[in-house]
Amino acid sequence: MSTHGSGQQLQGADSSASFRREGEQPLALTTPLSLDSCMRCGFCLAACPTYRHLGRETHSPRGRLALVKAATEGQLDPVTALRQPLDLCLGCRGCEPVCPAGVVYGHVLEEARAALAQRNRPSGLKRWGQRFLFEWLVPNTRLLRFLGGLLWFYEKLGVRWLARATGILKRLPMHLGEFEAALTDLAPPTERLPHGALYPAAGERRARVAFLTGCVAEALLHRTNRRTVQLLRACGFEVVIPKGQTCCGALHAHAGELEMARRLAKQNIAAFEASGAEFYVSNAGGCGAQLLEYPHLLRDDPQWAERAGRFAARVRDVAELIATQGALPALRRVNERVTYQDSCHLANVQKVKTEPRDLLRRVPGLELVEMTESDRCCGSAGSYSLLHFDVSMRILDEKMEQLRRTGATVVTTGNPGCLLQLRLGIHRAGLAGQVRAMHTVDLLAEACEKLPKL
Ligand code: SF4
Ligand code: SF4
Repeated sequence: MSTHGSGQQLQGADSSASFRREGEQPLALTTPLSLDSCMRCGFCLAACPTYRHLGRETHSPRGRLALVKAATEGQLDPVTALRQPLDLCLGCRGCEPVCPAGVVYGHVLEEARAALAQRNRPSGLKRWGQRFLFEWLVPNTRLLRFLGGLLWFYEKLGVRWLARATGILKRLPMHLGEFEAALTDLAPPTERLPHGALYPAAGERRARVAFLTGCVAEALLHRTNRRTVQLLRACGFEVVIPKGQTCCGALHAHAGELEMARRLAKQNIAAFEASGAEFYVSNAGGCGAQLLEYPHLLRDDPQWAERAGRFAARVRDVAELIATQGALPALRRVNERVTYQDSCHLANVQKVKTEPRDLLRRVPGLELVEMTESDRCCGSAGSYSLLHFDVSMRILDEKMEQLRRTGATVVTTGNPGCLLQLRLGIHRAGLAGQVRAMHTVDLLAEACEKLPKL
């Protein structure tokens, strides 16, 4: 498959149904963004997982940009021409670092999805499903904790065995039963971090940091959150868990629900400002990237734009913070062959690639091996793996072949969604028992000779 070309011909576009009907308005973006900067050079095609797996120009960054441009100029019907190409985009932003014109594709995608959502509001059950997810579940810490607690009971009380034996999991909608395999080693509700808590640094204090607990991690990976705080303390940081913090809003922004994303951003800015911390830390690549996007999200709000800029200047990924400002404590030997899978948003938006690898290399006995295309999306991409299961699994299964070739016994990553996806991939590839998927923080915490108790 050629990766370059003129890009004039949108192979696979939705035929004549794509052309705008009389009286229909062109797609209106809030800001024109970088639509004219694309030179159609095609350098981004090889970096795009959906182009590789679907093989169509309309599912490439260049093709999607051309479609959005044509829809804003009134040449195409936005809904029929754009819906599928934009829906099937992972939003991984792997196309940005390779673009010589500096096209910020992620902003175009977000704007186009938001404009499309205004035009094409789902109705009935789908609308209620979206409202439940975006407005009631994800920003609601108590509800997330409650659901996470139910899943812990499910694992510990033998209900899992019953569910598997009766085959009920296979009947769940949206392939939810398959994701059940990724839910391993759940921690009890008692291990959750109380919001409002303050934990002193172990030894010399380097800085006060405020920790974002996230939504997926709050429900399912709170042991990783706990270890993050323990590791930060061991590295010399005083850690506060800001009260009033909420979901970062990434899921909302990626789905075009920008107003809701702005509300959540303002709530987080206020909560973190009140913490008095010098740095705001996340252990989730996707959440940290969204925190960095707050200035862009609130750019037209005179009351918040400046505050958002100050907020973003303090945001750090946990590995970045420890590598640049902290001091790892004494580490014991870890005799494992380890490979690192980049979280797309951690690498492509936060530009954090070397720091987690540097930290892993400092563990005695640990052999770090590079996986081919470790910076290529694993197919998780927020809710993508649920909404587009087949494409997501094609991408994941290829990733598992690359993982198998490394001979690694551990694969680490810096984002909860990627971690769950890798666990599912290991299960699907029959690698369980040979390879473990871990958050980088969990591996580093395991390597610490002495981790402060909470
Ligand atoms: S998005 Fe960038 S890399 Fe891709 S075709 Fe346009 S200019 Fe080239
Ligand atoms: S965000 Fe990812 S899937 Fe979407 S066009 Fe860019 S590289 Fe392709």
